[in-house]
Amino acid sequence: MRPIKDRHVEQLPPVGQFKPVGVPIFAVDEMVVSIEEMEAIRLADVEGLDQGPAAELMGVSRPTFHRILEKAHLKIGRFLWEGRTLRIEGGNYRMKCCNGSRQFRCGTCGHEWEVPAGQGGRGCQLLCPQCGAQAAVRLR
Ligand SMILES: [Zn+2]
Repeated sequence: MRPIKDRHVEQLPPVGQFKPVGVPIFAVDEMVVSIEEMEAIRLADVEGLDQGPAAELMGVSRPTFHRILEKAHLKIGRFLWEGRTLRIEGGNYRMKCCNGSRQFRCGTCGHEWEVPAGQGGRGCQLLCPQCGAQAAVRLR
């Protein structure tokens, strides 16, 4: 079997474990979601990236990204529906070592700007510093 190539991950999830309220933790089956599955969720669902650019950021093909995201959605859906505990850990990934800044272009006026790593919140909520439109498109 071909070894799985490491997927590039920019950010580690801030919370590593979830459990249903009012249920003893030993009473429910645990679901494990990998770090790269959470990265796919972050890029596609939180940042709102298309699968093409998101796949590029993680260093995988588009079909591979799609597969990772599908798997993550299935697990999280089951976690919610079945009331399980959820742990986020492991997988095949390495952290990106670049400065991690993100670059955006305004969909309204075309202005481009950069947001340093760890600042500025979600891309889909960013306002253009030039015209104030909420139309940020992530470039990298
Ligand atoms: Zn603008």
